[in-house]
Amino acid sequence: MADCQETLNELDRFLDSELSPGDKEEIMGHLSVCTDCQGAFQFHAELREVVKKKALADELPDGFLDRLKNCFGDQILDDH
Ligand SMILES: [Zn+2]
Repeated sequence: MADCQETLNELDRFLDSELSPGDKEEIMGHLSVCTDCQGAFQFHAELREVVKKKALADELPDGFLDRLKNCFGDQILDDH
């Protein structure tokens, strides 16, 4: 069973659907019993949607995207 740290580490890959079925199952298993991680995943997924929409609408202030990419990695705006 994955622990919180492991689960949060895989968060991006999970959202990008880059995990193997086995890894995904572990994450899902952890999420079903851990509300902390559930909240983090939900927040992250929603944040991605908001950022993507705003980026497409060109509504982000200069430098904001760069800061986000530093936090979340370059793939945040990639479509999968
Ligand atoms: Zn957890």
